[in-house]
Amino acid sequence: MLTSIAFGYFLSAIVVSLLSIGRRISFINALTISIFLTPISGLITVLNIGRSLRVSRYITRYQCPQCKKEFTEPHFICPKCEEKMLQMNLHQIKHLQIT
Ligand SMILES: [Zn+2]
Repeated sequence: MLTSIAFGYFLSAIVVSLLSIGRRISFINALTISIFLTPISGLITVLNIGRSLRVSRYITRYQCPQCKKEFTEPHFICPKCEEKMLQMNLHQIKHLQIT
């Protein structure tokens, strides 16, 4: 009787810890919380922690400070503002592409 309760407790702790895969908490940390602070606490913790973010790469763009238009290729001055006789230097900005 007692062993089946203990087995169910550890099994539910492991199941809760498996939910941590792909989240910003490690399996070991989730298992530790589930064992020492009950699997219900572990479940609440794991579900409140957000999913892992993976930054695959940066995208470099060039933005005009005047018209806010973005260009994929580097220009020395903004071609759109150049038509209005303004010479605006483009600023290099990097966007995170998150998968
Ligand atoms: Zn411009």
